[in-house]
Amino acid sequence: MKRLTRQRSAILNCLTAADHPLSIEEILAVTTDEIPEINLSTIYRNIRSLLKEGTISSITLPGSNARYEIAASLHQHHFLCEKCNRVFNIPKCPKGLQDLVPKGFKLHSHSITLTGLCPACIN
Ligand SMILES: [Zn+2]
Ligand SMILES: [Zn+2]
Repeated sequence: MKRLTRQRSAILNCLTAADHPLSIEEILAVTTDEIPEINLSTIYRNIRSLLKEGTISSITLPGSNARYEIAASLHQHHFLCEKCNRVFNIPKCPKGLQDLVPKGFKLHSHSITLTGLCPACIN
């Protein structure tokens, strides 16, 4: 059985508490408060093992760094704020995507990323 290290539990706590997927830099900024000696390579190492065991999942958006969140079974989309670069979850899914599919094609999945400004950046 794997020992739950302090670093690992700090990373999990910060991902659980976050209301949006976090980048490595955001994880570092949060966990540093709890563990001053934590660094990027420790975080990368823990993230890699958490990804491997399926505890967390990564989100890769075009033109942006990977973000991480607690793995959810729920299908969702993301909104990337162009100003503060934060990523927000969108639990809704557009209907009628099957109508976009040309005749003879079979749709298996889709991924949608919305970009724009978050409420904090609009003003
Ligand atoms: Zn923003
Ligand atoms: Zn969807």
